Amino acid sequence: MPSTPKGKLAVGAAVGKGFLHITRDLGLKDPFTGSVELVSGEIAEDIAHYLITSEQTPSALSLGVLVETDNSVVAAGGLLLQLLPQAEQSVLDTIEKNLSKLPPISSLIKDGETPEDIINRVTEGIEVKILETKPVCFCCQCSRERLENLLIGIGKEEVSSMLEEQGGAEINCHFCSERYTFDKKDLENVLIKIESQGKKKDD
Ligand SMILES: [Zn+2]
Repeated sequence: MPSTPKGKLAVGAAVGKGFLHITRDLGLKDPFTGSVELVSGEIAEDIAHYLITSEQTPSALSLGVLVETDNSVVAAGGLLLQLLPQAEQSVLDTIEKNLSKLPPISSLIKDGETPEDIINRVTEGIEVKILETKPVCFCCQCSRERLENLLIGIGKEEVSSMLEEQGGAEINCHFCSERYTFDKKDLENVLIKIESQGKKKDD
């Protein structure tokens, strides 16, 4: 990846132009998705632009990654701040002031600061109550069972033709790219489940 004179990775130059697709799984039946054209290619700037223009939520977003000369990651993390509709102007002013003197997020993480430490920096002068903490991970809600249900949902005809034409099916999860393979026997099982559901409906 190219780097800028300050030694910061030029993510924008590597990403180039295109679209940013955002998917949020809010635990509802379908995930919420939206997209905007990339403005800069710098991930934080583009996500903030998306939140402000598409979701109309005043947001500040800071992402950072610190890499060694061998490209290994030393520290990486981010901060997303969003204003609730009733937030007072004074809160906004204080946060803006604190953000302007916030060191790069990656260096704070490298120095061992916790998310709570960073929140305290950004909200200095405001009373803060932590309501919940959750670990973050690169993980997905997908499972073999979920995708099998998807196959059951698309119906007998489609599954039969997959079985006839390809002798199986390969499905990639839209969100995490995990690949699930269903062989001949799996699809036959899916067909049996579709049949038995149909029967239940007929009863
Ligand atoms: Zn997945």
